[in-house]
Amino acid sequence: MFESLSDRLGGVFERLTKQGALTAEDVKVAMREVRTALLEADVSLPVVREFVKKVEVKATGAQVTKSISPGQQVVKIVHDELVAMLAGDDPADTLKIDNPPAPILMVGLQGGGKTTTTAKLARRLKEREKKRVLMASLDIYRPAAMEQLAILGTQIGVDTLPIVAGESAVQIAKRAKQQASLGGYDVYLLDTAGRLQIDDVLMGEVQDVRDAVNPRETLLVVDGLTGQVAVEVAQEFDDKIGVSGVVLTRMDGDGRGGAALSMRATTGKPIRFVGLGEKMDALETFEAERIAGRILG
Ligand code: GDP
Repeated sequence: MFESLSDRLGGVFERLTKQGALTAEDVKVAMREVRTALLEADVSLPVVREFVKKVEVKATGAQVTKSISPGQQVVKIVHDELVAMLAGDDPADTLKIDNPPAPILMVGLQGGGKTTTTAKLARRLKEREKKRVLMASLDIYRPAAMEQLAILGTQIGVDTLPIVAGESAVQIAKRAKQQASLGGYDVYLLDTAGRLQIDDVLMGEVQDVRDAVNPRETLLVVDGLTGQVAVEVAQEFDDKIGVSGVVLTRMDGDGRGGAALSMRATTGKPIRFVGLGEKMDALETFEAERIAGRILG
C-alpha cells in the first residue's frame, strides 16, 4: 500500500532536507514534484490542488525558510496536512459497541469484497473485542452468496442466521434483529446484496433495510483498485443511503492508493478499515497518523 508514492516523495524530500537554506522557489519546485507524485498515485485533481496550496502557504512562511532545518519543517508540514486530509473519527469507534445488539449494515457493489469484509469484521469483533457476533446475508438474489457467508462463519467460529428460503431482505433483517436480541448477541452484521451497478432497486432495498434496523454503522465496502471510481461510488451510496464510513478492499494489490487519499476530502467520509488480502485476518484499521507515516517513510 502506497509504496510507489512513498518512494517518489522520499526522493523529493531527501533532496529538500539536504539543501540547508531554502527559498520560496525551492519549496515551489519541490511542491511541483509532490503534485505530480500525488496525481500519478491517482489522487483526484481538486484534492491535490487544495493540498499543495495549503502546504505551500505554510512552507513558504519566514519561520520555515529561516529555520535551522527548513527541509525537515516542510516534511513536517506535509505530514500534518496529510493527517488532516485523512483523519476521521477514531476507527476503533466502530468496534465500540454500546446498547447491544448493535446493527452494522454492510453495503456496496457486487464483487467489491463485502461478504469477505463482513466476516473479517465479525472475526475482529469476536477475537479482539470479545463480542458475541451474529451475521446474516440479505442477498436473496444469490443463494451462493448466502452459503459463502455461512461457510466463512463456520471457519471463523461466528454464528450466521439460518437461511430461510423465500424471505425478503427486510424480513431477514428483522429476523436477525430478533435473533440478536433473544440470543444475547452484542452485534449483528447485515451483509446486503450487491449489484454490478448502482440501481434504484438495490438502493430502495437497502433503504428499507436501513429503516427497519436503524444501523449503528453503515459501512460501504468498495474495491480500492478502482481508484477514483471508488470515490464516486462512495459519494453515490452516501447520497442515497448515508454511510458512516468506508472500507477499501484489495489495498494489497498494485493499486496506486489514490482512492484512499481522496476519499475523505471528496466525500467527507472516513476510511475505517482497509482490506489487505483474502485471508480472514487481512483487515487493518485506517489511522491517519500511521498512514501518513507510512507514506512519508
Ligand atoms: P462481494 O460480492 O462484495 O461480497 O465480494 P466477495 O466478498 O465475495 O469478494 C470477492 C473476491 O474478492 C473474493 O475472491 C475475495 O476473496 C476477494 N477479496 C475481498 N477482499 C479482498 C482484499 O482485501 N484483498 C484481496 N486481494 N482480495 C480480496
